[in-house]
Amino acid sequence: MQGNLNVQTENIFPVIKKFLYSDHEIFLRELISNAVDASQKLKALSSRGEFKGELGDLTIEVKIEKGKLIISDHGIGMTSDEIDKYINQIAFSGANDFLDKYKDVQENLIGHFGLGFYSAFMVADKVEIDTKSYTDAPAMHWSCDGSPQFEMKEGKRTQRGTDITLHIADDCKEFLEEHRILELLKKYCRFMPVPIRFGEESQWEDSQTEFDEVDDGKGGKTKRPKRVEKKVPRIINDTEPAWRKKPADLSDDDYRKFYHELYPMNFEDPLFQIHLNVDYPFNLTGILYFPKVRKTIDPNRNKIQLYCNQVFVTDQVEGVVPDYLMLLHGVLDSPDIPLNVSRSYLQSDSNVKKISTHISKKVADKLEELSKAKVEKKEGETDVADRTQLEEKWDDIKIFVQYGMLTDEKFCERAMKFYLLKGTDGTYYTLDSYRDKIKALQTDKDETVCYLYASDAELEHAYIEKAKAKGYDVLLMDSPLESHFINLLEQKIEKTRFVRVDSDTVEKLIPHDDTIPEKLSKEEQDKLRPIIEGEVDKKKFTVQLESLESDDAPMQVTQSEFMRRYREMAQTSGGGMGFYGEMPESYNLVVNINHPLIGRILGESDADKQRELVQQVADLALLEGGLLKGEALSRFLKRSVAMI
Ligand code: ADP
Repeated sequence: MQGNLNVQTENIFPVIKKFLYSDHEIFLRELISNAVDASQKLKALSSRGEFKGELGDLTIEVKIEKGKLIISDHGIGMTSDEIDKYINQIAFSGANDFLDKYKDVQENLIGHFGLGFYSAFMVADKVEIDTKSYTDAPAMHWSCDGSPQFEMKEGKRTQRGTDITLHIADDCKEFLEEHRILELLKKYCRFMPVPIRFGEESQWEDSQTEFDEVDDGKGGKTKRPKRVEKKVPRIINDTEPAWRKKPADLSDDDYRKFYHELYPMNFEDPLFQIHLNVDYPFNLTGILYFPKVRKTIDPNRNKIQLYCNQVFVTDQVEGVVPDYLMLLHGVLDSPDIPLNVSRSYLQSDSNVKKISTHISKKVADKLEELSKAKVEKKEGETDVADRTQLEEKWDDIKIFVQYGMLTDEKFCERAMKFYLLKGTDGTYYTLDSYRDKIKALQTDKDETVCYLYASDAELEHAYIEKAKAKGYDVLLMDSPLESHFINLLEQKIEKTRFVRVDSDTVEKLIPHDDTIPEKLSKEEQDKLRPIIEGEVDKKKFTVQLESLESDDAPMQVTQSEFMRRYREMAQTSGGGMGFYGEMPESYNLVVNINHPLIGRILGESDADKQRELVQQVADLALLEGGLLKGEALSRFLKRSVAMI
């Protein structure tokens, strides 16, 4: 029989080719998916008793042979009527719909729209089908050379199943190369549910017949079986990936192994995982792993792989998972995520929204569960809630939780219960317990609770010590998102202020009502100011005279919390806050007018000595603040050496 394919467009193939130009390779996924479907259908018929024959070996085989790529299955096959219905008509009307729909948006398409069988014409200039149905119907041979004409006649195939033979076009010869096909099989078919064979691989084993003579360790000789190479079929897929199994059947070790199967180049173990398993109101399985996210946000965020019934679809999951969860690794498998639409459509799809919300909720559940994990009960003890599990992992996931809280309102609400603050001494606190701890000493005159923090415990060491000497506690807040996060906490927790330890003198960090009497008169202060200003870099430092305890440091460097924080925020948010980002770094040089040394400076009549004294005291303050550099540093060092 000969016929015309049911196509309105006279010559559809050049169009298909052009459309899918960048994504030619998906033809293999489409054809192997069909083969998998045909095999699964047969299994289903068999289990329902509608197919009574032997299933036999259902392994799908991919072969490269003299300019041809062949995909063979032992599935249900097709009768002549079925070819007519599914290949000659349906598929092409589908293609037409597709072309109509996307006439104007060629550029914006994402690559996956399941043109199915006809995607073969992206890479082949002739395609043949040899098929025999599981029913008694005769075998059929179909061929088409890329024009809308096809040929169909009885075929010679004797075994049930289908061979699809692609005569690879001249400009697509890459698909005749073994390594290229292997790469594609590994990409798209790695977890398909029916075994797929591609060529052979070596296996080394002990020979039964050949032996080597080796020393037996006692001065004599002994025989040892020779290691011999054996060629075995190369099966490229794992038909039962972990995410399809029941969580109860998997140990932590199984999850770890699967992680490394997914990311063979990633040597670090994940911290923990979430196994997703939903079948209503949408279908979703998958495993999401929490990797270690330390100081940096991995720019290569596309680690989550999206599957549809074990067929790889994409690793671009924007829109399917909330933005902050893009830092996770793992797989999601859902037949309910539309694959053949543009990304903006994806984001408004109601199933996708539900899935995204579900994932976010599961992540919060998991973290909450960790935060409540109980320690093992010893004899006679009652259960004690214990955060050890979460604390152990906290430093590695903190940035991720912060990102989530900053971008997802619902997640934020839940995370406020388990978020952990870390003290500079390494102790962890929930937000509530920390507030209780510091309330008494760290509430200022306006009833605001002041949380003191350091961004770098080493650099800010001197300031931390001063705060601790006052009985204050100091947090370590060192993630790159911290400035944004602190703003968020200030909004979420009423009557709260965060101040970095070096943002003011220790008295003023948490202002109380008591004032200290000034030892210098107004006139003396006016005289002092220019003396000190004359010795510091005025672009960088603002001299600030303050009345502090006489045993406080004579001078210290501080940096306004507000300016510094907004500057940091501008630097990490890119755009919008440019003004703050471009501001030069500026500091205050706080002069303690009650300190005896400052009195000495003022009373010094020799101008050189006075200048020298100011420099010495200021250098010490700069040194403490980590700011002593360049000329001032060498001056300081020379002076120190002279003193030895
Ligand atoms: P889809 O797979 O999306 O339905 P296709 O164009 O890929 O679209 O295939 C059309 C139909 O042709 C399939 O639904 C199936 O009925 C039939 N078919 C394709 N390949 C095979 C195969 N290897 N074995 C049996 N039937 C097949």
